[in-house]
Amino acid sequence: MQQSGRIWYNIPIMKWTKSLIQTLRENPGDAEIDSHKLLIRAGLARKVAGGLYAYLPLGMRSLKKIQQIVREEMDRAGALEIVSPILQPAELWRTTGRWDTMGPNMFKLRDRGEHEFALGPTAEEVFTDLAKSLISSYRQLPVTIYQIQWKFRDETRPRFGLMRSKEFLMKDAYSFDTDADGADRSYWNMYHAYERIYARCGLKAVPVQADGGDMGDSMTHEFHVLADAGEDGIAFCDGCGYAANLEKAERRAAPCADADCPAFEEVATPNAKTIEEVAAFLGLPADRFVKSLVYIADGKPVMVCVQGDRDVNEVKLKRFLGAKSVALADFGTVLKATGANAGFVGPVAPADASLKIVADIALKGAKGRIVGANKDDFHLKNVDLARDAKIVDADYADLVVVKDGDICAKCGKPMAIKRGIEVGQVFKLGTKYSAAFNAVYKNDKLEDHVMIMGCYGVGVSRTLQAVIEQCHDKDGIIWPASVAPYQVIVENLDPDKPEVTKVADDLESALEAAGIDVIVDDRAERPGVKFKDADLIGFPVRVVVGAKGLANGGVEIKRRCDDKSKMQVVAPDAAVEAIKAALEGE
Ligand code: ATP
Ligand code: MG
Repeated sequence: MQQSGRIWYNIPIMKWTKSLIQTLRENPGDAEIDSHKLLIRAGLARKVAGGLYAYLPLGMRSLKKIQQIVREEMDRAGALEIVSPILQPAELWRTTGRWDTMGPNMFKLRDRGEHEFALGPTAEEVFTDLAKSLISSYRQLPVTIYQIQWKFRDETRPRFGLMRSKEFLMKDAYSFDTDADGADRSYWNMYHAYERIYARCGLKAVPVQADGGDMGDSMTHEFHVLADAGEDGIAFCDGCGYAANLEKAERRAAPCADADCPAFEEVATPNAKTIEEVAAFLGLPADRFVKSLVYIADGKPVMVCVQGDRDVNEVKLKRFLGAKSVALADFGTVLKATGANAGFVGPVAPADASLKIVADIALKGAKGRIVGANKDDFHLKNVDLARDAKIVDADYADLVVVKDGDICAKCGKPMAIKRGIEVGQVFKLGTKYSAAFNAVYKNDKLEDHVMIMGCYGVGVSRTLQAVIEQCHDKDGIIWPASVAPYQVIVENLDPDKPEVTKVADDLESALEAAGIDVIVDDRAERPGVKFKDADLIGFPVRVVVGAKGLANGGVEIKRRCDDKSKMQVVAPDAAVEAIKAALEGE
């Protein structure tokens, strides 16, 4: 029951002293990035164990607001909400073969009857199976079904708080269509819903092309929030707007203009294995070297040559070779294929004369380069790749991870590399899952056809932290009003004075009645402490109610995003309008 003469008993009120808010002065020891530090210090979440968090009342409010935005935009896009179990039977995963291929990221367990289950890391199998049982006719299509449900992944390195946790909230949606055009429409429908979701969360999220993985050349975009703390690299081209993650990003490179060189010769490079070591030993820059690595592609060794200062992009390599899997070869394989240990291998006369050799496009025409001699502790100098290694034109392709300044494959302008946090992904799946489940519909001639699918994920809990990463300063979080735990904090500076408390409480009721959520800081603390906490948590608007201010004409209104000096004093009865305006101008 509410007291203090309130009429509207159904209006929620929140006083700091009853809110369980606890802010911390110290950064948590395991926090590397600002948003993780602020998440904990502002009392939004608490770590329960590595990669596992409890959402505290403040964090829960923001999480619910993000969920609600996601839900509204999914509903607006015509998607249907359901909820499916977190505990998923192994049989469904066996249907697609993913029970074995998901690897250690999937949590597996048994019930008392020894039946196997997974804690859902995603739900393609469950949704495809549901669609198969719910959909029989083309008349029911297209349809998109979604849920907002906890997901589990045994990440190799859970870190950065909610960004990469073992348990996280994801919105996952799955679309079912009769044909490719329909699947295309469903895809863009979700893509545009995602644009609206992130914009409403106050986030600048950019769609970037990504690699379709096992789904061949299928279309997929990741939505990234640009932030230096992001785990992913993204290549951007200002010239044509091309944006792709580093797995996918393609580049153009002109053949090199090396001058002819004399016959190659051996040089001793004892113990100098890495490019850095050999470069230092011979006193030459890394780009004069050819880095040669042996991979195993679908069980067969392949040598990949790239310029010494570049890294192999395994996704591109896999595509170029048309292989199902590629991985670096073990020591034994390297020795057998080349005659030397890693660090001294090269494309000139490897031990296995039939070893397939491919090279990055930037090495086309490379002459006078240094390569491993296929003999431990030796390199070859003055190598002409075409002359000495017999690498033919068809064996060159774009095989490296792009770098800042690389040339855009689309328009020829230089690209820039930025860091991003993946907050969502949209994916055209084709019939990979529906074919495995034989999820078919009948067309108008009563013939069976496999449905065409798409899947669409939003990392809801990761988005919460991405907002903090994008919106903070040295004092704390600067919440966008749409997802702030409370939009307004009323600082009652004199909670022991009934006349001041009445103004603060009346303002609270009036704001709630106007649909603005508000918390009253009723602590008997010094103003400095209260303001520091308000800045740390980052409520969009702070209203100060104190005896001194009231005597001087009113309450003080300040937006968190404004400079400290920018403050407005208004009479208490004009406060609601002024606060509304402050929130709108936010
Ligand atoms: P990542 O590459 O970051 O591991 P993913 O591409 O494997 O993510 P998806 O399968 O695309 O993830 O899942 C949809 C969304 O769920 C991601 O875009 C991301 O926002 C979120 N997400 C994925 N893994 C985690 C995690 N461990 N913790 C929090 N959110 C996650
Ligand atoms: Mg993804």
